[in-house]
Amino acid sequence: MKPLLAVEELAVSFDTYAGEVKAVDQISFQVLPGEAVGIVGESGSGKSVTAHAIMRLIPTPPGRYAKGKILFEGADLLQRPEPEMENIRGNDISMIFQDPMTSLNPVLTVGMQIAESLQLHQHMNRKDAYARAVEMLRLVGIPSPEQRVKNYPHQFSGGMRQRTMIAIALACNPKLLIADEPTTALDVTIQAQILDLMKDLQRKLNTAIILISHDLGVIAGLCSRVIVLYAGKIAEAGTARDIFYHPRHPYTWGLLQSVPRLDSTQKQLLTAIAGQPPDLLQPPAGCPFHPRCPYAMRICQEHYPETTRISEEHRVNCWLQHPAAPNPKQEVAG
Ligand code: SF4
Ligand code: MG
Repeated sequence: MKPLLAVEELAVSFDTYAGEVKAVDQISFQVLPGEAVGIVGESGSGKSVTAHAIMRLIPTPPGRYAKGKILFEGADLLQRPEPEMENIRGNDISMIFQDPMTSLNPVLTVGMQIAESLQLHQHMNRKDAYARAVEMLRLVGIPSPEQRVKNYPHQFSGGMRQRTMIAIALACNPKLLIADEPTTALDVTIQAQILDLMKDLQRKLNTAIILISHDLGVIAGLCSRVIVLYAGKIAEAGTARDIFYHPRHPYTWGLLQSVPRLDSTQKQLLTAIAGQPPDLLQPPAGCPFHPRCPYAMRICQEHYPETTRISEEHRVNCWLQHPAAPNPKQEVAG
């Protein structure tokens, strides 16, 4: 199957007074039609920058697409003129964000907001767009949509607002939906409902999804492939099975340890990864994770780990997995 999206060695930098920040540093991944891919990492790992780059919404300057390609259906989005991009956004690629309250217009009814996007992108007339808005609200599980369509955002709960955002994003039937921390602002029960809804819609509408989260637990139920980002680089990527059952990177191990487990009988103490993500103005030499890595060897401080392919899908950037790595016992950093 041809990929819907192929990100190739993408690098995005921000030029600041203090120097260059390499927010995303040569990452490559693909999304197949109808597939859900998870991107996980702590804040500052480059997740949102990647999402905004795909939508070509990086403010330039100070941002800069320093390298690489973003191939959507084979054509590079970074080469498209802006009017074409405007057409692609909303029609082919949609995005939903963490906080629906800031994305919804408080003075327009939710029906108007869904209809507006359909009139703009699909050139529907008012009446048809409004009818479709009711249909979309029903699809995302808003009760009595014929009445609710006349409500303003403040009359909706947080969960219902996020459902509305999903309705707006999916109204034009995009091929790709990018969801950047879509459930972070919601409580756990509502979070689970929204993720179920996304899963359901992905199956029904065959929309490809890029789900961005700091929490591997959120990714688990929806995504068939996972990309773990650290300091703007891919630490590990593979199928959900690879990442959840056979992780190879110490950072992935740390992320997995901080996922709450529903099946544990005892209250488990969650281990957060010690230390802070690096300052990207002055990233550490070698492997960017080395100051926090319990397994760091001397080579980790000097050389960025080459990619090791565990299988066709599973790749990891860690010296521990590299055939040429020195014996850890002799090389443990002091
Ligand atoms: Fe840890 Fe070294 Fe692997 Fe980086 S390359 S994750 S420092 S063992
Ligand atoms: Mg973010």
